[in-house]
Amino acid sequence: MGNAFNLGNFFGIQFRLHYTWFIIFILITALLSWRVFPFSYPDWPLALYWVIGIITSLLFFASVVAHELAHSLVGRANGIPVKSITLFIFGGVSLMTREATRARDELLMAGAGPACSLVIGGLFVLLHLFTRSTIEPVAAMAYWLAYINVALAIFNLIPGFPLDGGRVFRSLLWRVTGNYKLSTQIATRVGQGVGYLFILGGILIVFLRPFGLDWFSGLWLAFIGWFLENAASASYRQVQWREALQGFSASQVMTSDCPVIPPNVTVNQLVQGYIFISGRQCFLVADKGGIEGVLVLDNIKSIPQQNWNVTQVREIMTPIDKLKIARPDQDALSILEQMDESEINQMPVVSEGGIIGLITRDSLMRFLRIHSELGM
Ligand SMILES: [Zn+2]
Repeated sequence: MGNAFNLGNFFGIQFRLHYTWFIIFILITALLSWRVFPFSYPDWPLALYWVIGIITSLLFFASVVAHELAHSLVGRANGIPVKSITLFIFGGVSLMTREATRARDELLMAGAGPACSLVIGGLFVLLHLFTRSTIEPVAAMAYWLAYINVALAIFNLIPGFPLDGGRVFRSLLWRVTGNYKLSTQIATRVGQGVGYLFILGGILIVFLRPFGLDWFSGLWLAFIGWFLENAASASYRQVQWREALQGFSASQVMTSDCPVIPPNVTVNQLVQGYIFISGRQCFLVADKGGIEGVLVLDNIKSIPQQNWNVTQVREIMTPIDKLKIARPDQDALSILEQMDESEINQMPVVSEGGIIGLITRDSLMRFLRIHSELGM
């Protein structure tokens, strides 16, 4: 996920804030300070609604962080390293560098988040009970936080992958059937089904307005459904990729016919004189001094067509020092994981100091398509 601010490292995990987080932070603060608190406590001074609204919002996001941290720490204790936690519009997401290899590990890791939210919810219930007759603003804040943490736990326990409940569901299927791929297939299909139900429910709310719900709730529900459906399909594709790449090495999936081009060629010359004719999609940019960088179609797509005449390939190539390097015998799956982890799209394969080929996401996709068409 791009467009995220780095908040720093805690517990050896990188914390990031996606820009959509600010939208939801403002939305929740406004909702609390304008609607929720004034409705239940009409005699507070105006400033108090906003102070309590902002503190409540911040504590809500701290609760989301705690939820994600529970996943990460339990995961790490079971040998699944977590690279980063990103907060965004729908809450938090932990980026694991690999999937669990045992059903039990996945069950513990997936269950830890909702369990943590339930515990936090319980603590806020206690705080509410203790402050109810003494400090009203704190009691109001604790009440809403208890409610939202329990809601977060319940929402996450919906058995559609990649929600926590879907992961729990998959780990149980996996345990019973012993078949990881089949379990993922069922859990992601259920995840897509849940997504469609949310979209349908959202549309019904917009048109029928049952139980006094407004069109905004319907739109929001449909939006979450759309997001879930997308996430479920993406998870399924990812598992298929992993399955298909298992057992192949870098030298088997790389493209070895990337021609060498000089760095001062313009993009227009390259496209007209080379790409259209040969159909090649990867190039090694080299001068007399050796390889300077790598160029793929994505680099070209990144600049507008009217600048092609005045842009040289050295300006848009990925320079050699920005590239991560693969060995020919490295397994293809670990290369894909490395690409995901470092958010890069291509890796040169290097043997005895020379580049012998290039692995790009496109070339991996082509490799997988050919293999699946041949039924291999
Ligand atoms: Zn979770």
